[in-house]
Amino acid sequence: MLVRFWGVRGSTPTPQSENLRYGGNTSCVEVRVNGHIYVFDCGTGFRNLGKQLSQEQNGHPISAHIFLSHFHWDHIQGIPFFAPLYGDRKNSFVFHSSSRSCGLQQALEEQMADPYFPVNMSEMAAHRQFANIDEGRIAFDHCTVHTKWLNHPQGCLGFRMESQGKVIVYATDNEPGDPVFDKNVRKLAEGADILIYDAQYLPEEYAARKQGWGHSHWREAVNVVMESGAKELILFHHDPDHSDACIDAVVKQAREHYPRVRAASEGMEITL
Ligand SMILES: [Zn+2]
Ligand SMILES: [Zn+2]
Repeated sequence: MLVRFWGVRGSTPTPQSENLRYGGNTSCVEVRVNGHIYVFDCGTGFRNLGKQLSQEQNGHPISAHIFLSHFHWDHIQGIPFFAPLYGDRKNSFVFHSSSRSCGLQQALEEQMADPYFPVNMSEMAAHRQFANIDEGRIAFDHCTVHTKWLNHPQGCLGFRMESQGKVIVYATDNEPGDPVFDKNVRKLAEGADILIYDAQYLPEEYAARKQGWGHSHWREAVNVVMESGAKELILFHHDPDHSDACIDAVVKQAREHYPRVRAASEGMEITL
């Protein structure tokens, strides 16, 4: 499995000089399994993934399974700018998410409706399917994806992808403190090779004014990795106000508790 980070920022894109080493694009992670493409979230990083796929295309159609954790802007805003959706009728994409808070197809089409965007989603040439999922297990030819609900306003799904004995967990936008969801995220992360986890706030920011906002912090991320027996922690969904220097300091502190910690950065690749 190859994991590539195309967008690592939370909440809103932050193209500012002090943020550029980790990156300013919002959530998008690609996983390739035996040449098959799986995508977790379509924040603004999704646009650059589209450019990469178009370059690789070389006359072959592009297809991918795309998992949306939820429909907040930082997880869907790249879709209108994803070139492979427009060009080729042979391209095909399956969007997987829960329709619990809002219909999946409706949620994606409405962000492009008049007057929010000049091009309607119906003008996209690629074949599109919308798969309503909930907690459970989805089996593909080369991998299996397990899903569980996380603690976030309007809901958010966490994903555990297993293939050939390797496990990647993508669990972002999750606030600690609710026993059901705390258990869910530890269950998802159990024994994972890579845990990509929401570490938006500093613990002191969370305690002072961010409770109820639906996000975690690096100290809780360390708790989750240690309590679930996951091997490596990737801090993700960085706060828009956290500079590269701030994230460097977070990684240093987190490593005092658990050695295998990195912060996700745009362009980072992990091969399992
Ligand atoms: Zn988010
Ligand atoms: Zn959110």
